[in-house]
Amino acid sequence: MFSERFVLADRVLNVAPSPTLAVNAKAKALRAAGADILNFSVGEPDLSTPAHVCEAGKRAIEEGRTRYTPAAGILELRQAVCTKLKEEQGWDYQPDDVQISCGGKHGLYNIFQAILNPGDEVLIFAPYWVSYPPMVQLAGGTPVIVPLRQERRFDIDPDVVARYITDKTKAIVLNSPSNPTGAVYSLAALAEVARMALAGGWLVITDDMYEELFYGEGRVPHILHADPRLQGQTVLSNGVSKSFAMTGWRIGYSAGPREVIRAMNKIQSQSTSNPAAPSQYAALAALTGPQDFPRQMREAFLPRRAYFVDALEAIAGVSCVAPMGAFYVFPNFSAYYGKTFNGRVIDGSVALADYFLSEAQVASVPGAAFGADDFIRFSFATSLDTIKQGMARIKQALAALR
Ligand SMILES: *Cc1c(COP(=O)(O)O)cnc(C)c1O
Repeated sequence: MFSERFVLADRVLNVAPSPTLAVNAKAKALRAAGADILNFSVGEPDLSTPAHVCEAGKRAIEEGRTRYTPAAGILELRQAVCTKLKEEQGWDYQPDDVQISCGGKHGLYNIFQAILNPGDEVLIFAPYWVSYPPMVQLAGGTPVIVPLRQERRFDIDPDVVARYITDKTKAIVLNSPSNPTGAVYSLAALAEVARMALAGGWLVITDDMYEELFYGEGRVPHILHADPRLQGQTVLSNGVSKSFAMTGWRIGYSAGPREVIRAMNKIQSQSTSNPAAPSQYAALAALTGPQDFPRQMREAFLPRRAYFVDALEAIAGVSCVAPMGAFYVFPNFSAYYGKTFNGRVIDGSVALADYFLSEAQVASVPGAAFGADDFIRFSFATSLDTIKQGMARIKQALAALR
């Protein structure tokens, strides 16, 4: 047996393992034992990748486009990203301002690696996507968690942000629509953040992964709409994983100041070299082909979202803000904390999610994973029928608590 302290790096020992893993492992074990588990824990669309995208990937393989590509990604795809940003948003970018990465996640990882020095602080809103704090830590930075409130529908409160600013603030992460809350930040709040970012010289990182899954009118408000002057210090992060149901292809993209993108390319060239070539051609087909897929997905999600929110709100003590984007509901169950089942106290989201799993055969993700213990995340990237069954079970399980 080796000593972990001796063998493993501090950077690994200092990063907390995901609290979702315990629930996940238990769900798998129960399923293997034959239990009828309804799974609401998945963070990916339940639709298949569009056929024309798969065809483009196959064609790339058949035509031998199976070698290394430039570290930044193939020029055609970077150009397609620029065209998309210009046509949809009116923003000007050149291919040299764009990096293709192994998923949006690795793009974000590259950004933090490229910009952070020890002690640099990054403002992250909670509830947050699980990977932001560890990514910042792995790059030597310090995550500074800024709370968002359910009462404000998880919109940014600029006065609260102001309290977390120090002379070490280096960057801020925006994620709208948000995973896990589904919240969309208001243009007014973004304008205030833009003002602070310009004054402080921070880098603004926008994780726009769910931009296509917006349930409001028009396009999602973006900080570059609030103040276009910010473009010179903003890095956009996006990808095809969610919008084209391509999670397994591993293609993301970032666009931003050329110096930052160049630094990110340096890191990519010394780590992954480049994302898989056939996947890049498939993503090219996704961005340049018919754009009706995200709309179809949105339409498929609408009735599920409506049912989920109504059913949750109908349960005594449960409240749920209707998500304005993405495919998650994030209800507040804190009224049930402190209650017991067979003498076992439900003391928070981990215990409640565990209870839902063992007593109701419903898998979900405890809010603690997102820095918000009052809540539990359920994905509605699953059939309406599954949602109806799941809600009936949840309701019954909650009623059994004393
Ligand atoms: C899924 C997701 C990503 C990254 O997805 P990839 O599969 O790495 O492309 C990034 N941010 C958020 C908020 C996500 O939910």
